[in-house]
Formats: sequence, C-alpha cells, structure tokens
Amino acid sequence: MLDSLQDGLRSAFKTLRGQGRLTESNMREGLKMVENALLEADVSYSVVKDFMDGVAEKAVGQDVLKSLRPEQQLVGIVQEELIKILGGDIDTSLHLKPDVTVLMMCGLQGAGKTTTCGKLARLIGTEGKKALLVAADLQRPAAVEQLHIVGNSVGAPVYSEEGATDPIAVCRNAVKHARDNEIDVVILDTAGRLAIDEELMEQLKTIDRQLDPDQAFLVVDGMTGQDAVNSAKAFNDALELNGVIMTKLDGDARGGALLSVKQVTGVPIKFIGVSEHMDGLEPFHPDRMASRILGMGDILSMFEIAQREFDQEEVQKTQERLQKGQFTLDDFRKQLQQIARPGLMQKMLGLMPGMGELTKMMQGSDHEKEMRRLGGMIDSMTADERNNPKLIDNSRRQRIAKGSGVSPQEVNALLQQFDSMATMMKGMAGGGVGGAMDMMRK
Ligand code: GDP
Repeated sequence: MLDSLQDGLRSAFKTLRGQGRLTESNMREGLKMVENALLEADVSYSVVKDFMDGVAEKAVGQDVLKSLRPEQQLVGIVQEELIKILGGDIDTSLHLKPDVTVLMMCGLQGAGKTTTCGKLARLIGTEGKKALLVAADLQRPAAVEQLHIVGNSVGAPVYSEEGATDPIAVCRNAVKHARDNEIDVVILDTAGRLAIDEELMEQLKTIDRQLDPDQAFLVVDGMTGQDAVNSAKAFNDALELNGVIMTKLDGDARGGALLSVKQVTGVPIKFIGVSEHMDGLEPFHPDRMASRILGMGDILSMFEIAQREFDQEEVQKTQERLQKGQFTLDDFRKQLQQIARPGLMQKMLGLMPGMGELTKMMQGSDHEKEMRRLGGMIDSMTADERNNPKLIDNSRRQRIAKGSGVSPQEVNALLQQFDSMATMMKGMAGGGVGGAMDMMRK
C-alpha cells in the first residue's frame, strides 16, 4: 500500500542518518526530500505546505538538533503531522439506532460504490445486525442486477422494484420494508454518473431531504488522486457528507487523495477499501495509517485481523511474548503458518513492521511453496538457534542451507528479515518510535 510514498519518506530519513551529526542544513535537505515525496504522491499543494510548516515549526521548537537522536525525533514529528492531516481522531462508528438506521451511499461510476455497499452489509452482519441493500441506481440497468449479485455473495437481502423509475419512491418503500421485516440498517445504493452533473446532484439532494439518512457516505477511488478530492468537495457542497470511503488503496494508489481529502474538504475518511473481495473494507484509523506509511507497520490492525482469523490461544501467547520483548524464530514460523492462506498472507504481511519488502517479493509468487521454503530453513535450525539466531555463524549457516536445500544467502536473507522484524516489534511493544528508527537504520 502506498509503496512509492513509503519509499520516498524512507530515503528522506536515510539521508538524515548517515550524516554523522545532524545540522540545520542537512535537516533542511531531509525535509525537502519529505516534501518531494509528498508532492510526488500527488498530495494537494496546500496540504503539503501546511504539513511542512507544521513539521518545521515543531522541529525547531523542540530543539531537535540538540537532542540525542535527532532523526528519530524527526520521524516522530512527521508521524504526528501525518496523523493530523489524515484526520486525527476519527469516529468510525455507524451509530446504529435501536430501530432502522439509513445509510446513503453516493459516488461516481466505477469508484466502487456497489462493491462497498456489499462490504458494509457484510461488516454490519459480522456485528450481528441485519442490513438491507437498496437498488436506487435506476440509471444503469445493470446496476440493479449487480447489487443482487453482491447481496447474494454476502448473504444480505436486496430491495429492488422491477420497472421502477422513481429512485426516491424505491428508497422510501425500502425503509418501510425494513421496518416491517426487523432489518437494522438500510444501505441506499444511489445512482452514479461518469462525471458530476446537475441532475445527479438534484436527485441526491432530494433523496437526502426526503429520506433524511442518518449518515451519507461518498465512495471515491483512491487511485484517481486529486480527482477524488475534487469530487469529494463537490458532493460535500451539495450534501454535507458524514464521511468518505476511499477504495482501491490495495493497488498502486500514490496516496495523494488519502492525504489530501480531509484537509481540503473537511470531511474525514471513515473506511478504506483494501481489496476487491467482500472482506476488504477497514475502518480508517489515521494513527495506524501514519505508522504504515512510515514503515512501522500496523500492529493493532494486524491483531484485529488475527483475532478474527487465527487460533486465539496462539495469538494470546504471541502477544504476551511481544510485550516481554521476546520474539523468536519459532514465533516467526508460527505466524507464517497461520497466515499461509490465500489473500490473508499479503494482507497480514503488509501490516507487519518491516515486512514491506517481503510482501513485494512474494507478490505473484506461490505462497505455499514460499512458506515451505521459509519453514524449511527454520526447521533446519536447532532449538537454540531458533531462540538465539545470533549463534548462527558461517558453518551453522552452511549446515542450515544444506539441510533445507537453499543457498546460504537465502538463510542470511531470512535472518535479516527476522532481525528487522524483531527489532521493530520490540520497539512497538515498548510503545516508541525507537524500534522503527532502528529498523530504518538497517
Ligand atoms: P460503482 O460503479 O461505483 O458501483 O463501482 P463498482 O462497485 O462496480 O466497482 C468498480 C470496480 O472496482 C470493480 O471491479 C470492483 O471490484 C473494484 N473495486 C471496488 N473497490 C475496490 C477496492 O477496494 N480494491 C480493489 N482492488 N478493487 C475494488
């Protein structure tokens, strides 16, 4: 996710390191690189300016240059500013009411609106509530059918009226249907268009006025950069949105839309789409996203996924060991085994600190085979070596390589990867950015 932005920021911090002593002039050079990384990610110019002003003010104010680990402190400041522009503390609750809650979904064609309706219905379902999808996009004949397919795949009922021409009547009837059928949430899939036009906005305004939805969300495509920001602005002028849902962040979105939308429009991002599958919707947490962008991983999201998908006893044990600062190759292997499932693997690795490179390496590769390769190397180690990889000298490395049918370089690569991850995890468990910086030193 946002690979090029991550790489850009990483090289900015790398420049700041390696300098022996940090001075005002090389700090300025590092900050310039941070600025370039943001501009290259297509972040709005005004947002970049505010961001850099904020960073510079804090960097000077905190006497960063005189501190013991100036570059580490600077990462902390950049992290704080990132959290701020991403929206700070966001309330992602859907605030479901005791009776029927109405959610209105808008967006331009292709943004991912219909898919997101399905993802939301699924998410609501996992919380034990029942959602009804409403086919209110009567412009595109295939839209009604598509919603039925999506509803089917997540086990959510779909309300549609054959031959209907009035979307407002459909919405109104659907809410009544929900009341009569003990449904908790109504999700209105409203019409999209290729571009914003008067007629579309009028229709949405009428639905908004007459149905008075509890929350109105705009779905935007995160790959479209500033176009996504501009459409958020236009929709918000017409509707007063409660939140933006930004899709397709799993692709090669540069991040410009993600980092700009809140500052430019005042509307927070509430959910992000991270896969085309129905489980690919996450509540948006600026602090976690900032950590991800800075390559520190997103331990909390990782544990949340783990909680849903994994053997809970194992998870508990790993968490306890992490908190004690213990993380061994055995834990590493256990984690690898648990995530060796299609799709899940990439998602989890992407959230783990320092695993970005490994994720990239594994893209398109045969996960099962890769698991066997990594697991094979760990299996060829003695228990002592797994607990304390520092024991692995040249001759042990040769033995492990031979035992698992790989080259000594591959054993090295695994150990380095493990080392980065362990350092980072210990740093995160301790709650600081120290671990993250240690990681970036490598
Ligand atoms: P709509 O016209 O706004 O209703 O858009 P659709 O829901 O039909 O989505 C358009 C395309 O985007 C489809 O191929 C979806 O599978 C894809 N899509 C939607 N959300 C995501 C996402 O978060 N990630 C990825 N990779 N694809 C997505």
